[in-house]
Amino acid sequence: MRVHEEAPVKTLPAPGATLAMASAPEPEVAPEPAQPPAQPAIPNMFVVMIASELAPVAKVGGLADVVYGLSRELEIRGHAVEIILPKYDCMHYGEIWGLTMTYQDLWVPWYGGSVHCSVWFGFVHGRKCFFIEPHSQDNFFNRGAFYGFKDEALRFAFFSKAALEFLLKSGKRPDIIHVHDWQTALVPVLLYEIYKFNGMDRQRVCFTIHNFKHQGVTGTDLLNAVGLGGRPHHFLDGTRLRDDAHPGAINLMKGGIVYSNFITTVSPHYAWEVLHTGENQGLGHVLHSHRAKFGGILNGLDYDTWNPELDRYIPFHYGPATTDQKYRNKAALRERLWLRTDYKPIIAYVGRLDAQKGVHLIRHAIFYALAHGAQFVLLGASPDPGINQSFWALKNQLNNNPDCHLEIGYNEGLAHLIYAGSDMIILPSNFEPCGLTQLIGLKYGTVPIVRGVGGLADTVFDRDYSGRPAEERNGYVFHDSDGRGIESALQRAIGLWYAYPAEFRHLMLAGMRQDYSWNHSGQHYLNVYDYIRHK
Ligand code: ADP
Repeated sequence: MRVHEEAPVKTLPAPGATLAMASAPEPEVAPEPAQPPAQPAIPNMFVVMIASELAPVAKVGGLADVVYGLSRELEIRGHAVEIILPKYDCMHYGEIWGLTMTYQDLWVPWYGGSVHCSVWFGFVHGRKCFFIEPHSQDNFFNRGAFYGFKDEALRFAFFSKAALEFLLKSGKRPDIIHVHDWQTALVPVLLYEIYKFNGMDRQRVCFTIHNFKHQGVTGTDLLNAVGLGGRPHHFLDGTRLRDDAHPGAINLMKGGIVYSNFITTVSPHYAWEVLHTGENQGLGHVLHSHRAKFGGILNGLDYDTWNPELDRYIPFHYGPATTDQKYRNKAALRERLWLRTDYKPIIAYVGRLDAQKGVHLIRHAIFYALAHGAQFVLLGASPDPGINQSFWALKNQLNNNPDCHLEIGYNEGLAHLIYAGSDMIILPSNFEPCGLTQLIGLKYGTVPIVRGVGGLADTVFDRDYSGRPAEERNGYVFHDSDGRGIESALQRAIGLWYAYPAEFRHLMLAGMRQDYSWNHSGQHYLNVYDYIRHK
């Protein structure tokens, strides 16, 4: 019975009706609802984001989405936000509006001399962005790729220094400087060790760690580069920048933790994991020392970019009341990837091909899906040549299979179509700080099948085993990082799709109706900003 493709949306209650049924009937004279104590409004703030990525101009992963989405939310709430980025040669310049050079002569102190930079201004989908372009033989940002170079620590130390120098010289005095990951973790160190004495003593720093795996561990020479070389013992102290595993090296992320006014990571469960398990990758001690200023805030999803009702990349728009249109996207996806048209679910993976993402389980899932009546689509790229090569080999092996397509590379438009056209999306991560793909999957009615770690545990609730109310259950969760673990979830998901399509539809709709927008998370960040502003 071909139930999914023509499945009768009409037999399901309309979204509004379902919600109305779930809530208590309204009394004739409604009593005053109990209100939480009124929160004093947070006065408008000037926030500067300093980051190595911004969607969609310079995107490698979720960091880019978060910097864009959070900035947008803060602006919607009336705060002034500016974003400082490197001027990479490989940015998507077509996404920048009105790019003009605004500061011609920024001289950034570097190794006892100084490097001449220009600063450009442009709007990225409404966000105000400054791009720093150094003119030096190092060519830090003219290398055709965002990351992956031997002098990575120097590149981003330079960027951090240049960003602060730009704030200083342009007279910008934000209330909050928000930095992200190890690439900009040196900003608070430089602020409190140098720039504070040059008139930037009122700025407060929020440091968001999107992934503890990459920390920016490097030699002490970098201190000379950025102007901190005068007191090596001070910085090489175990309570400051010295890396706990390599006593002769400095750890930029550790410096960020020590010097920032507040540190966040991107989900409450990951925050718990980094405090209490080995997920902190050696930073447990420093985190515990600073735990009073540490917390987890779940990432939001920018529903302007990720919304099947508006998505500019998909041929057929749809929402909870029009999921039949989703199946037209499924047909479009099949057509684009040369998959055969058959009564089968499509299972997808979109994301970096990295050990973090559980590549062994992604492979396992491909073969399991193909052997159990499903089609499989993968879109991913890896900076690791070994992993990349193994997926190319797999692609060649499966090339003639009409139920499978592996696309190795980065493709924003195809990613959107895959989210819209697939029935399920897998995230079998070894660890996952937050994960955006499951949130996108939920919004697009693409049921997530995830390993219950980090932010995945905060956002996906197992249809069969979660203790949550039925309407909050939105996917499948497994725990063991082995073939049997992921099979236990895939089997249930594929089984439901075939045997109980109406129930599968309920699961899709439950996810589509959940709100993982920036609305809540934006408020949490504002509370943090407001808190540190008064310190
Ligand atoms: P991470 O930040 O660890 O890479 P997230 O789940 O937080 O993972 O964010 C991944 C983001 O990057 C999502 O928006 C996803 O769609 C996108 N993405 C990852 N790989 C690709 C790719 N190969 N092509 C297109 N988009 C991708």
